[in-house]
Amino acid sequence: MATIFGRIIAREIPADIVYEDDLCLAFRDVNPQAPVHVLVIPKREIPRLADALPQDQALLGHLVLVANRVARELGVGEAYRLVVNNGAEAGQSVFHLHLHVLAGRPFRWPPG
Ligand code: AMP
Repeated sequence: MATIFGRIIAREIPADIVYEDDLCLAFRDVNPQAPVHVLVIPKREIPRLADALPQDQALLGHLVLVANRVARELGVGEAYRLVVNNGAEAGQSVFHLHLHVLAGRPFRWPPG
């Protein structure tokens, strides 16, 4: 488990976990960019979305459905933004695939 998210999965460092199952974990972002800011990550380490393989199709779908479930359970199911930063130039800083679930404030388009 190379990244900080791997260490969260291994319970080596704490996180504010809001959902967990066999395949994934969801926890609050330590530096929230919105009133609700949760990260949904697979337990299996996939560095970037670009590294996902055809056999990851069900896992990727699961992550999106978990993001939807977490948003609903946190009371923001009607208005949230789902973000994946793929690659450093796109803003990715932790190289363990994660979906950002952001909600609780207005969002502009296009994103910055
Ligand atoms: P990204 O820039 O898309 O790779 O997003 C990484 C996110 O992980 C950032 O929003 C960070 O604030 C968040 N983050 C980094 N370390 C932790 C941590 N220990 N617990 C929770 N969130 C973290």
